[in-house]
Amino acid sequence: MKPNHKGTAQLFQNPFLEKLTRTHIAVPISIFIIIAIGLIAYGFTHGFITVLSAIGLFFSGWFIFTFIEYIAHRFLFHMDTDTDVKKNIQYTFHGNHHEYPKDKERLAMPPIMSLFISSLFFFVFKLIFGQFVFGIVSGLLFGYAVYLFVHYAVHAYAPPKNFLKILWVHHSIHHYKDDERAFGVSSPLWDWLLGTMPERNK
Ligand SMILES: [Zn+2]
Ligand SMILES: [Zn+2]
Ligand SMILES: [Zn+2]
Repeated sequence: MKPNHKGTAQLFQNPFLEKLTRTHIAVPISIFIIIAIGLIAYGFTHGFITVLSAIGLFFSGWFIFTFIEYIAHRFLFHMDTDTDVKKNIQYTFHGNHHEYPKDKERLAMPPIMSLFISSLFFFVFKLIFGQFVFGIVSGLLFGYAVYLFVHYAVHAYAPPKNFLKILWVHHSIHHYKDDERAFGVSSPLWDWLLGTMPERNK
């Protein structure tokens, strides 16, 4: 698919649904930072977590998020599209972003969806981690907010003149050179561990 730096995709005929697919990036970033702070504060005030465990749990949750980010992008957003139904789903969720990478209102999924998915994660993680969920999911949602910010910055702003530049380079390779590689957005860690780092031209 050829990327277009102007224009936008129409995803739905229904104007209400179409409107719902457009999100100002500041909305989900604020929502998820507030929830992340709220969760950890709730964990503290109810004695579920201590300061020290909160720090460890928060960073574990963030780390888990970077893995979810990689897996979702690689296997869900770039799933095999052997049927028209799958093609449609892939295009609605992610293909449109590859066709119009600079469409700034389509760099985050609608908050109504991400909130729903987050609550599923909360309940699953509560089953696994019990009261530690308040620290883990706080870090997880913070990781999502960081991902949203990095992804927006990479598409909207020129690369910085420091080490963070690698995030710009990494994601540009995914968009403009090889969409079967460089799936990590907020970090290249899982590409490196799971063998999808871009090949170096010698
Ligand atoms: Zn992108
Ligand atoms: Zn992609
Ligand atoms: Zn693709």
